Amino acid sequence: MRRTKIVATLGPATESAKVVEEMLLAGVDVVRMNFSHGSPEDHKARAKLVRDASIKTGKIVSILGDLQGPKIRIDRFIGGVVEIVKGDRFVLDAELDKESGTVESVGLTYKALPSEVVTGDELLLDDGRLVLVVEYVEGQRIITRVEVGGKLSNNKGINRRNGGLSAEALTEKDKADIKLAAEIDVDFLAVSFPRSAGDIEYTRELLKLAGGAAKIVAKIERAEAVVQPALDEIIRVSDVIMVARGDLGVEIGDARLPETQKMLIKRSRELNTVVITATQMMESMIENPIPTRAEVFDVANAVMDGTDAVMLSGETATGAHPAKVIRAMSSICEEAEHTTAARNSNHRMDLRFERVDESIAMAAMYVANHYDIKAIAALTESGATAKWMSRISSEIAIYALTPSEKTCRYVNLYRGVYPVFLPHKIPSPMQANRIAVEQLLNQKIVQNGDMVIVTKGDLMGINGGTNMFKMIRVGDHEIY
Ligand code: PGA
Ligand code: MN
Repeated sequence: MRRTKIVATLGPATESAKVVEEMLLAGVDVVRMNFSHGSPEDHKARAKLVRDASIKTGKIVSILGDLQGPKIRIDRFIGGVVEIVKGDRFVLDAELDKESGTVESVGLTYKALPSEVVTGDELLLDDGRLVLVVEYVEGQRIITRVEVGGKLSNNKGINRRNGGLSAEALTEKDKADIKLAAEIDVDFLAVSFPRSAGDIEYTRELLKLAGGAAKIVAKIERAEAVVQPALDEIIRVSDVIMVARGDLGVEIGDARLPETQKMLIKRSRELNTVVITATQMMESMIENPIPTRAEVFDVANAVMDGTDAVMLSGETATGAHPAKVIRAMSSICEEAEHTTAARNSNHRMDLRFERVDESIAMAAMYVANHYDIKAIAALTESGATAKWMSRISSEIAIYALTPSEKTCRYVNLYRGVYPVFLPHKIPSPMQANRIAVEQLLNQKIVQNGDMVIVTKGDLMGINGGTNMFKMIRVGDHEIY
């Protein structure tokens, strides 16, 4: 059974019920709706498609809404595309008409850019494919020299090497999309280009005001977000971080990405935050039926680094084989999981625990990794116990048994955690062991004679109530 979770982006290639059902059957755990593209109606229709497919296939699937953020872009060209040549002069002109770009100059979506760049800055266009060096700024015009040329088409993104542009993380469009996200009732909401913990807290506040209950994902994609203390502050206030390798690679340089990915995954696990690794993991499968060997290694390495989830973007959104790419990714994950040193974790060895439920989760995992335990059943309201457990590397499946459908969809992202929906309230704590074991038996997860660990609270139905764990031999009715 695969422990690493798969996030897949919806798009033009996934508009039919049939394709979405195939994606669910292929093993997708979370679908991502990219608010950069499409209208509110498109997103509502997609959410409905996903929920219908979930009912039809019986697969739990979570929805992640991804805010566009202050992506800085050039405007449009008269002919749609130009070719700029190394050594030539090219002007980014904040006052130029939106549609009037030529081989000499083009407009800008971010009007403040001319006041934020200085001579010598490197500007990277179209994910770094083209490079412009700033010669000087004249009023609202940035005069540059083309360092790396090529074809440049409408609306391509601009990043500055080493980051530092001050654009607010939430644009007016993002604020409207937060309301949309609350209305759709997404399970996760991703913030693009956050600079600081404050950007995450502000988003959480707006989401709450809009009546949303999503977990917040911080996309780490600015150079200033990967340096301390900003990084730890962002990780601590976020439920999930995303290693957003596309924009981050452009800002810090691709060569620094592998070490940065490893550092981000390690640090987020240490701080009890969940982590998604994203962008160009299976890129060649947008067209091809099989991945390149480099892509196989990339996905496997992210799994070995300890990521909770791996993400597909264009591979499913605009790709030729959305279900096939999910199956291919799934088998790479499973294989990579076999090779990790699973029953050996130093998680939080030198730290003190802050809460009773966290302590129980840690103690249960220590026992699980050192005894012959078949499965863990965590009775949980919020899913927090299961999240703490999943920060410890292990080969043992963690079942999060919960009466909350929302919690099912939260824990669905956590590595090694599988949601089990409890349709009936547990009448009393005394019945909890029996019900937990019955659920595992019903789903053929365990059989008589297997040892399981159950975690629960004296008072059921309250968040953070877990205060005990019990080791149970299945079939030994007297003790449960
Ligand atoms: P994006 O974010 O796909 O929304 O740009 C991910 C990334 O930058 O890697
Ligand atoms: Mn990005």
